[in-house]
Amino acid sequence: MTVEAKFTDQVNRNFDKAAAYTNHSPGLLKQIKICNSVYYMTFPLKRDDGSIEAIQAWRAEHSQHKTPVKGGIRYSMAVSEDEVMALAALMTYKCAIVDVPFGGGKGGVKVSRLNYSQAELERITRRYTYELFRKNFIDPGIDVPAPDYGTGPQEMAWILDTYNSIAPSKLDSIACVTGKPISQGGVRGRIEATGRGVFFGLREACSDRHDMKQLGMNVGIDGKKVVVQGLGNVGYHAAKFLQEAGAIVVGLSEREGAIYDQKGLDVCKVFEHRRETHSIVDYPGAQNLNATGDVLELECDILVPAALENQITMANVSRVRAKMIGEAANGPVTSEAHEALRKRNVMILPDTYLNAGGVTVSYFEWLKNLSHVRFGRMDKRFEEATNTKILEAIELATGKKLTDNIFGPIAQGADEEDLVNSGLEETMINAYREIREIKSQHGDEIGLRTAAFIVAINKVATSYLELGIFP
Ligand code: GLU
Repeated sequence: MTVEAKFTDQVNRNFDKAAAYTNHSPGLLKQIKICNSVYYMTFPLKRDDGSIEAIQAWRAEHSQHKTPVKGGIRYSMAVSEDEVMALAALMTYKCAIVDVPFGGGKGGVKVSRLNYSQAELERITRRYTYELFRKNFIDPGIDVPAPDYGTGPQEMAWILDTYNSIAPSKLDSIACVTGKPISQGGVRGRIEATGRGVFFGLREACSDRHDMKQLGMNVGIDGKKVVVQGLGNVGYHAAKFLQEAGAIVVGLSEREGAIYDQKGLDVCKVFEHRRETHSIVDYPGAQNLNATGDVLELECDILVPAALENQITMANVSRVRAKMIGEAANGPVTSEAHEALRKRNVMILPDTYLNAGGVTVSYFEWLKNLSHVRFGRMDKRFEEATNTKILEAIELATGKKLTDNIFGPIAQGADEEDLVNSGLEETMINAYREIREIKSQHGDEIGLRTAAFIVAINKVATSYLELGIFP
């Protein structure tokens, strides 16, 4: 795929476009935009066969207007200084948009996990953590990593264990990383969180009568034709939740290929098929597409790129036929392609908003870790007892006995997963309304991406101004 500009330039171009709609001083805008620190490291990996390999890795801390800084760690051969800096910047804006009180950070290790054994990946992760620790780039109050492309709960558990073994024993050590397995202090709902957030965001956008009319679509997710690029954690869960809400998933892709079925693909069965055959192609009843990138050009209502950056570029944008694009990945649409899509009235839900569900639930995990108590532990039974008393009073007053399937769900107190999902839903709805409002204030002359950037810039600017740094 052609790349129009460096990833950081793309992000900064979007920033500048939005900054023009604010009245902050050039100095303050520059401080918000630049990346505060980047740490580049190389370290040796002893391979299983005894040979030595030099591994390159980075961690960028884009903004410390709030601490800790927060952002995932990705394992990919595309990792570079430019990429981690751009992704760290997106984290700053993302956290501001969803009111998560963190600055932005991002880490990356330049490896393809397919080329390493589990033991080698463990050695890479532990050594990377050690390098971060040596330079103060990991700490519950300074910089808190999380999963990203190519990493998951297992890597987070190794990070925690390494941190625990080298950090002087601290009460809050468990909050040094999020996205951990539940047994290691993780929070229920974190794995699904980014995909669930993508679903909540799209559902909110599709509930706007005015916008749906402009796009020539019905209100709601039900019946919408959806295409998802990438069946990793984010793509899989986004596709699954959209399907459960009545969307017809007509196209799915992964790095080895893409499939299409206008009647709709069963997301869970496709996932199973891929697990068993190690490939998405040749799914029974579906049509194989020639190239994996062809999935982006399928006719659909909503296209969800959930893989990597730079997927919709000037090279293929003219062939994109979706009415709406939901950026589940970070930076999947280049700024030039974004302009071209806007001219054609395609609605784009930007990454800085749409995929913020992951960091939102990471924030909940961090809060859980700092409070050392599971959400719901103190109040679930109390809530249940109160609800039961209210329902019994209703039964007494009306003389009617409620059936178990009515009584049970109403009486139930909220457990950790209920609370996490509810907090995520509240966050995604509020943030969408805030962005949509800014867009309307500009007479819909700007898109949602610029509106989201305006929201982010204003919030980060307020933090700086209230710190008294910029009188
Ligand atoms: N890697 C995710 C992102 O890009 C999550 C970050 C986090 O949970 O800190 O938003």
